[in-house]
Amino acid sequence: MKHTASSSDTSTQSPTALFDQACTTAREAAVLASVEAALGWDERTGMPPKAADYRGEQAAAIAGLLHAKRTAPARGEALAELAASPLATEGSPQVRAAIRLMAHDYEKQARLPVRLVTEMAKTTVDAQQAWAVARAKSSWATLAPWLEKVFALKREQAACQRPDLDPYDSLLDDYEPGGRWPVIAERFTHLRDAIVPLVRACGEASRRPTDAIMRRHFPLHDQQRFVRTVAERIGFDFQRGRLDTTDHPFCSTLGPDDCRITTRWDEAYLPTALFGVLHEAGHGLYEQGLPREWFGLPPGEAASLGIHESQSRLWENLVGRSPEFWEWCFPVAREAFPAALTDTTAADVQAALLVVEPSFIRVEADEVTYNLHVMLRFDLERAVVHGDLSVADLPAAWNERFENDFGRRPPTDAEGVLQDIHWSAGLIGYFPTYTLGNVFAAQLMAAATRAIPNLGQQMAAGQLGDLLGWLRKTVHAAGRMQESEPLVERVTGEPVSERWLVESLTRRYGPAYGLS
Ligand code: ZN
Repeated sequence: MKHTASSSDTSTQSPTALFDQACTTAREAAVLASVEAALGWDERTGMPPKAADYRGEQAAAIAGLLHAKRTAPARGEALAELAASPLATEGSPQVRAAIRLMAHDYEKQARLPVRLVTEMAKTTVDAQQAWAVARAKSSWATLAPWLEKVFALKREQAACQRPDLDPYDSLLDDYEPGGRWPVIAERFTHLRDAIVPLVRACGEASRRPTDAIMRRHFPLHDQQRFVRTVAERIGFDFQRGRLDTTDHPFCSTLGPDDCRITTRWDEAYLPTALFGVLHEAGHGLYEQGLPREWFGLPPGEAASLGIHESQSRLWENLVGRSPEFWEWCFPVAREAFPAALTDTTAADVQAALLVVEPSFIRVEADEVTYNLHVMLRFDLERAVVHGDLSVADLPAAWNERFENDFGRRPPTDAEGVLQDIHWSAGLIGYFPTYTLGNVFAAQLMAAATRAIPNLGQQMAAGQLGDLLGWLRKTVHAAGRMQESEPLVERVTGEPVSERWLVESLTRRYGPAYGLS
């Protein structure tokens, strides 16, 4: 005779059974989230324009199911009971982290009133449409009232979800768990003090590299073959992922064996696709390296957006722009583009990849000035959240700061305060993760170089397996079990510091511009 245990009454269940049930629900939520991601990927890669309205209904339906699954009161009770059970302190590190973080996420979400969630969703959809119009007309007045609403809702969200934190830190917690703005602000101040003079010195240098050879004709089909070769070479697994075309490149995970990376192409400028793909494949390598058996649960999730960005930046800039990598890559590139590169050398290409050229637009910025764009946004959005700056005063504050850092003023708001979609999408507290990614990447790469003594020779031979293996073992395998700063400190053996990024930029860009 078979006995079937009753699972209706959670209080009679063993901690192990409760844990299994909590994991099952989390995996069910992950299935819905991956359906949401599939719809989002399709929307940005191949959906016909007239399908947008119905796609909105599909996305809203999945979002509703997902929210209900994640915030069901019974789940909250089970997670609270689990958190108080011996398993929460005596389980394996993965089990302990899963219990702690599932309870944390539940409590945070459950503290948000449904009215606020709905209003935020609706307001940010309308605000993003207003943003598109405002940017096209360079009309601040079109966007300002919407941003007032978005910032007000975000302040309310901040107070609800983490009442124990400063409001900006509460918002930051969604993207960089454990991040604290005073720590980041101090680090960014040091960084800015080093980068502003470096940019100025590059601008005034008598020796200036040029990227003219990167602006020759690079046929689309040849680029497609070439970037795939490069992505494969750094370890991106095309059996578990694919590359598609889009307007604003991204990386999205649709399942444990389904990582989608995207790029845009420019036949008149090779770096658009090449570095776009290295960047997104870097994100993809992280996703493909997260512990597969924990997919949908915290030990199988990314630690933070800053850590995610550290992986993309490491491959894009610290590998992809290095002279060592181009020892391997140059012959491959010349074979792929014989007409464009036949009269060039590896040194010409290496120099062309180290051009510093201040631009008004963040997404077009080079590796050095990029961080100045980010720090400007971090300071301004924080001032608005803290009530130290009004939305109405944002354009003036933007232009003043830009002139201070870059030496010139944006001629229009479209090239200034209106250029990014983030604020109208409700992504406030998101910008600093870009530069945190650069900071983490430089420190991780320095540690990898110490751990793999012949890394330079390996890169020159096109062998990236040891570097990827080291990242897999130290960063990827940890999932979300550690917050970003303790993670980087453990892996590199020292507290997080911006000095590695300053050192990396100075070491690589100084000689290119003949600066001592
Ligand atoms: Zn990225």
